[in-house]
Amino acid sequence: QLATNNFCEENILGRGGFGEVFKGNLDVKTVVAVKKLQVYHARSKDEFENEVKLITHIHHRNLLRLLGWSSEGSDLLLVLEYMPNGSLDQFLWGAKSGTLDWNQRYEIIFGIARGLAHLHNEFHVKIIHRDIKSSNILLTDDFKPKIADFGLARFQPEDQSHVNTKFAGTLGYTAPEYALQGHLSDKVDTYSFGVVVLEIISGRRSTEVNRSSSDYLLEHAWKLYEKKIHKKCIDETLDSKQYEQEHVMNIIEIALLCTQSPVSKRPTM
Ligand code: ADP
Ligand code: MG
Ligand code: MG
Repeated sequence: QLATNNFCEENILGRGGFGEVFKGNLDVKTVVAVKKLQVYHARSKDEFENEVKLITHIHHRNLLRLLGWSSEGSDLLLVLEYMPNGSLDQFLWGAKSGTLDWNQRYEIIFGIARGLAHLHNEFHVKIIHRDIKSSNILLTDDFKPKIADFGLARFQPEDQSHVNTKFAGTLGYTAPEYALQGHLSDKVDTYSFGVVVLEIISGRRSTEVNRSSSDYLLEHAWKLYEKKIHKKCIDETLDSKQYEQEHVMNIIEIALLCTQSPVSKRPTM
């Protein structure tokens, strides 16, 4: 049972489109995060149902766990595992910027890739997150990443003609083929992930990267990537988890490649 006095200003962890996230206690020992969505927003009911439906059965160390929910009364509540280090964006350009070392960045990139690989490959139908961005990546106390915020997640449509082309997602992270033609596939997440990889490497916001469409920044990020991360990945593929590492590595490569050229050619939205 959640105490309602948990929902006060001093316990606030974050704000989003349709509600707020609070730190709370399930019992004396268990700290949780409670996401409260206002029921009077038409879209928050949809997002709530989505988060509940899609994430309940998913267990993976890089995907945020949903511990429970409630839709009684005037609020929709999602009880989530608490992530002490908050979201990744704060560590890139927010209050704690510049504090992640290269090992941590590398682990974060790999962790996100593993979480995505699970969503895209472990189920009968692919799950597409649709809102991969730095503020939806949360960090544990030892900086392991978990993908959060499944409000926009969808099963991959079998038939693209039924895709709702209405824009959903976040400007700057959205794949051009989805923003322009409404074409929805797992590549949409891979593209957004590529943007996040660039943000992690460069420490700059995607919108900044796009606005300048700066070849310099991309080139710079790419060089850093090759120097710092690629080498380490190659070293580590020699260990026993070779297959997994290679698979994840492929995703990172693809993400970086598909992000690399379209960014500079991206239409203004
Ligand atoms: P929205 O759908 O409104 O964007 P999110 O689920 O992304 O909501 O949460 C908004 C913000 O709240 C996040 O960016 C993060 O800073 C914070 N937050 C969300 N869930 C947690 C959690 N489980 N632990 C710690 N902070 C969280
Ligand atoms: Mg969010
Ligand atoms: Mg959301």
